[in-house]
Amino acid sequence: MTVKEMIQQYEQEMLDKLAKLVAINSVEGVPSQDAPFGEAPKEALLCALQMMEEDGFKTVNLDNYCGYAEMGEGEEVIGVIGHLDIVPAKQEDGWNTNPFEMVNDGTCVYGRGVSDDKGPVVASMMAMKILRDLGFPLSKRIRLIMGTNEETGSKCLKHYVECEGDVNYGFTPDGEFPGVYGEKGMVHGVYRSKKTELLSVLGEGAMNIVSGKCSARVVKNSYSTKKFKDYLNQNEMRYEIEEKEEYDDITVYGLPAHASTPELGKNAISYLFMGLKEAGLQDAFVDFYCSHFGLHTDGEGLCKCEDEYGALTLNTGVISMKDGVIEGSIDIRFPVTLTSKQVVKMIEENKEDEGGEIEVLSTTEPLYFPPDSPMIESLVKAYRDVTGDEETQLMTMGGGTYAKGIGNTIAFGAGFPNRDYHIHNANEFAYIDELKLQVEIYVEALQNLLNL
Ligand SMILES: [Zn+2]
Repeated sequence: MTVKEMIQQYEQEMLDKLAKLVAINSVEGVPSQDAPFGEAPKEALLCALQMMEEDGFKTVNLDNYCGYAEMGEGEEVIGVIGHLDIVPAKQEDGWNTNPFEMVNDGTCVYGRGVSDDKGPVVASMMAMKILRDLGFPLSKRIRLIMGTNEETGSKCLKHYVECEGDVNYGFTPDGEFPGVYGEKGMVHGVYRSKKTELLSVLGEGAMNIVSGKCSARVVKNSYSTKKFKDYLNQNEMRYEIEEKEEYDDITVYGLPAHASTPELGKNAISYLFMGLKEAGLQDAFVDFYCSHFGLHTDGEGLCKCEDEYGALTLNTGVISMKDGVIEGSIDIRFPVTLTSKQVVKMIEENKEDEGGEIEVLSTTEPLYFPPDSPMIESLVKAYRDVTGDEETQLMTMGGGTYAKGIGNTIAFGAGFPNRDYHIHNANEFAYIDELKLQVEIYVEALQNLLNL
């Protein structure tokens, strides 16, 4: 029997397993003594480990942080590292179906996690089963490592590394094909006002999302409402101005986008402050914001830089005011060949003027593997051999995956090029044919890694 025929035989089993995992709303919850991320992520882990145990694999549960199923012998470990936790989903947020009841329309399956990352985890389970059925000699151990905290901090993987160390070769099916050989580094920080006449500012959202809405209360007649409106109209921005006796309440609406691609969005905070400046408002903090960030998403004014693989991105996501001080978030993704030290140094040089100041809170180094390293070549070959796609190039990413948290690992699949599976959004879906293709690619990839 060919691998394709074996996958055909396992198709129903694969979809049943996926439906079972999708039914668990494994979003992070309240921790308890033996459930570090709440009951539901733990339940998803126990369910997945039980599936692998019933299929005859050795399984290990690492304190309900994560667990793994293993096959093979030898010193070296090949890790396939996926996650069973999800981001929240509510049917009223635009879902056409119940996000926790997987729907199969014959072409696609719908439900939270079918693409990120429960589908790829189940595809990896099937790849292990098929590899075993094939009787392929296993000179290394293959471990399917399943975490339960990827979406909210990857503390699961940290626990794995503390218990078991790095893997010798690894991929996480939580990115894109044909593979991600570089992940940008990150700098998270805040800016604060030192001097401002604004009465209040509020832009809620998330640090890693371009601001979709920002409101400010501004002293009456401190700016020209006409010029403000002209500026926003010219830039095709939606806004509201409520004129009161002593002040105006202004709200600007932006276009949200992920912080790794802020150029695809329109930042409500930035348009609000730029509009006020254009409209003649004299305010030290607004000047500080406009000169350090303005409408730029490439760090212009603070730490602009790039390498041959891409440019730095900067996003200001949330902002608020407390006790007269405005504070907002900064999310920077910097090029894969730079170090956080270099970026922080640039920030230090521009971090302050009389209107405001910037503080760096945390940094994460980038991830970079030369594309011609044996592990990466093995993985890409598996993708090309199975799909026949010789065109799509390896890529770098602005986001972060598990690959940053464990040695010798890259993101490899499970998304196919130029697809949008509505990951983290309503109506997340996966093509059934692509799930089967994932199994085939992973069978091939594991064989290639075993041969290294
Ligand atoms: Zn994911």
